[in-house]
Amino acid sequence: MEIITAVRGFKDILPPETDKWRHIEETAHKVFCVFGFREIRIPLLEKTELFCRGIGESTDIVEKEMYTFLDRGEESLTLRPEATASVIRAYLEHNLHAAESVTKLYTIGPMFRRERPQKGRYRQFHQIDAEILGPDDPRTDAELILMLLHFLEKLGLRKLTLEINSLGCAACRPAFREAILSFLRGREEELCGDCRRRLVTNPLRVFDCKVETCAAIISQAPLLPDFLCAGCRDHFEKVQASLRLFDIPFKLNAKMVRGLDYYTRTTFEVTTEFLGAQNAVVGGGRYDHLVRDLGGPDISGIGFAIGIERLAAMIPEADADALLPGPLLFIATLGEAALEKAFFLCNGLRMKGIHVEMDHAGRSLKSQMKRADKLKSAYTLILGEREITENKALLRNMLSSTQTEVGLDSLEETITELAR
Ligand code: AMP
Repeated sequence: MEIITAVRGFKDILPPETDKWRHIEETAHKVFCVFGFREIRIPLLEKTELFCRGIGESTDIVEKEMYTFLDRGEESLTLRPEATASVIRAYLEHNLHAAESVTKLYTIGPMFRRERPQKGRYRQFHQIDAEILGPDDPRTDAELILMLLHFLEKLGLRKLTLEINSLGCAACRPAFREAILSFLRGREEELCGDCRRRLVTNPLRVFDCKVETCAAIISQAPLLPDFLCAGCRDHFEKVQASLRLFDIPFKLNAKMVRGLDYYTRTTFEVTTEFLGAQNAVVGGGRYDHLVRDLGGPDISGIGFAIGIERLAAMIPEADADALLPGPLLFIATLGEAALEKAFFLCNGLRMKGIHVEMDHAGRSLKSQMKRADKLKSAYTLILGEREITENKALLRNMLSSTQTEVGLDSLEETITELAR
């Protein structure tokens, strides 16, 4: 019988990859906590309307990438394609805004988009998502970016580029939209089919088009920062000034429009030269109208989403190996009495939080030592009939190949001491 495989674009995360993931997630918990963030856990499934209203009807995500279905023919539900809309839904549903004027939340988990799978792009992928709800001052934007960069630095990631832009606000974006529309209307014939459609639905999306002819046209298009109103310009300049204050290098990218409609003012991406075509590791930005658009009060927000698959791909295997060391001790056994004694010793040490391994199958000493090697055990102990009778054995340091005699009664003590 043939085995059943996973769905296209959905992948298993296996050890040792999972060690990297745990390290990434634990680092996020630690760093975000220092910046005053609290974790929120939200459902994977939401009412479809949340994403249509939140992300925008004319975005690629809502138009063609959502996993949407009728639940038993009654209600349209969608597997979340991103986290921000859900975080705000929960924030409003549980009245979190009434409890405090600044709410910092983060969440980690899977997202679902029916994109064309390729290296670095999956249909189920995972994000670390952080949001600050309440303040709209530029220092908050800088603080969030500082936290993000600190987190990436803690993971030892290098050669990253921070790109920032401002998408303006409801006051200044319409003028830009008009300018870009009149610029593109003259060149409609040269645009791809998708972009011609975007002219009607959402002309800013043309900036995202990867088709060469469209990219060539857009390279001469008017740029958003030239249309910013005084308020947006001031906000953007202050964000940049704060980043400079902390010596954070950044690139201005006037063409970065981001794929979601809710962004206003500051937007940013972190890219890397390591990942080829899928080079964006983080995307984020301010959204000053989203809370209101989702039925809440006029509250500003800013957030980012980091792709865990792409982060993990940037952590070298060698670094990952060091993340989860092998067992401290491997007890190899010869004979039934030794097996039982080793089981007892193993359990005692494990109860003390020490990683110890043994082989219950009574295989040859050679194959047990091979396994100890493979597991990268720091020490091994061989227990045979003689050792049990004499109540002592040789403890071998696998790195230095030195041996010391230890009494079995004091083994727990000796190993606990080594674990310190
Ligand atoms: P976005 O929510 O589109 O702004 O994406 C934020 C980050 O999530 C990106 O920079 C990627 O690291 C990651 N990401 C988005 N879509 C995918 C995908 N289909 N597969 C893997 N990672 C993704």
